[in-house]
Amino acid sequence: MPGFEIFGDEERKEVNEVLETGVLMRYGFDGMRNKHWKAKEFETAFAKRMDVDHCQLVSSGTAALTVALASAGIGAGDEVIMPTFTFVASFESILALGAVPILVDIDDTLTLNPKAVEAAITDKTKCVMPVHMCGSMADLKALKAICDQNNLILLEDACQALGGTYEGKSLGSYGDLGCFSFDYVKTITCGEGGAVITNNTKFAQNADHYQDHGHDHVGKDRGAEDHPFLGYNFRISELNAAVGLAQLNKLDNILEIQKKNYTILRNALETIEGVSFRRVPQGGVENYSFLNFFLPTEELAKKVHKALSEQGVDSCFYWYTNNWHYINGWHHLKNKKSLGPLSSEIRNQMQDLNNTDFSKSDAVMGRTISSLIKIGWTEEQVKERAQKMHNAIVSVL
Ligand SMILES: *Cc1c(COP(=O)(O)O)cnc(C)c1O
Repeated sequence: MPGFEIFGDEERKEVNEVLETGVLMRYGFDGMRNKHWKAKEFETAFAKRMDVDHCQLVSSGTAALTVALASAGIGAGDEVIMPTFTFVASFESILALGAVPILVDIDDTLTLNPKAVEAAITDKTKCVMPVHMCGSMADLKALKAICDQNNLILLEDACQALGGTYEGKSLGSYGDLGCFSFDYVKTITCGEGGAVITNNTKFAQNADHYQDHGHDHVGKDRGAEDHPFLGYNFRISELNAAVGLAQLNKLDNILEIQKKNYTILRNALETIEGVSFRRVPQGGVENYSFLNFFLPTEELAKKVHKALSEQGVDSCFYWYTNNWHYINGWHHLKNKKSLGPLSSEIRNQMQDLNNTDFSKSDAVMGRTISSLIKIGWTEEQVKERAQKMHNAIVSVL
């Protein structure tokens, strides 16, 4: 997921246009800014690329999730269903609003198991948040049917799957709301940044206001704008937006290279008996930012992961024991370690995560290894990597 690999003259040009005027803010200062509106331009271009009506840029992917939830009216005591395999931002954004994260099992798609989602629905459930981890997607059709039946918001976290599609639609545009991150290690980067996309005009307007202290953005005088409801500051700066604007132009090229490199690695592993691959739901196309594969057992996966690193194969991840991406590493969440007291809704409604059975997730994650796909590799380097990966795996199996 390597936008940072291709930072170049295009990004510098966009940033310099902002630096020349010195208007680093996305709103106001019309006379000084020499017609540069990088954040607005990026929003228009991104909405077009994602084929949606609205895009709201914000300061991070975590901010995007928070703004999206807030825009859909989610707040204190509302339950949001999320997967056990994700990034900590999922529960951080939910908790930030006083809402309650409800964790459920994943399946071999590496994200929400629709049956587990159904079983977790209560009269307090408001939203289902699939996280399209490592370049591929949840079973969105099944999840949408569940959401429609139960009148729930479907919020896609597409931070790791920008450019992937499902039934011909861009990931993030299938549900009610979609979120993206443009942090430094994502498919395209702003340094720090994020986006919310939606076709829902009300949610879009809410997002526009909420991420800027509730400003209604009516009229030409910022100080005189009204604030119909409480907001916060999740604004992106013009400098970050300028970087993203240049990166967005490179997206299709990035996806093409990722696919090429992914395919070389996958072909090398496909012939190995005992190796299988993460299930991509029917109608889905990955963004090819990771190659995700399963070993027959947890023990073998651990050995393969070790063998890969001994062979000098970098950027292969064993998420099962990772501090940030799987519930095993989230002792702060399990033990509700917050700086100040958490709200009573959160304390009373959260699962006892130290004693919840996630053996179905363990059975998948314990066997999963993911190889990052870089775009800076030469073809020779990818082929060499493929050979090394093949050898490392075969040496264990
Ligand atoms: C990166 C990421 C986020 C958060 O994005 P930031 O911009 O780093 O705040 C959220 N969800 C997932 C799945 C991510 O990978």
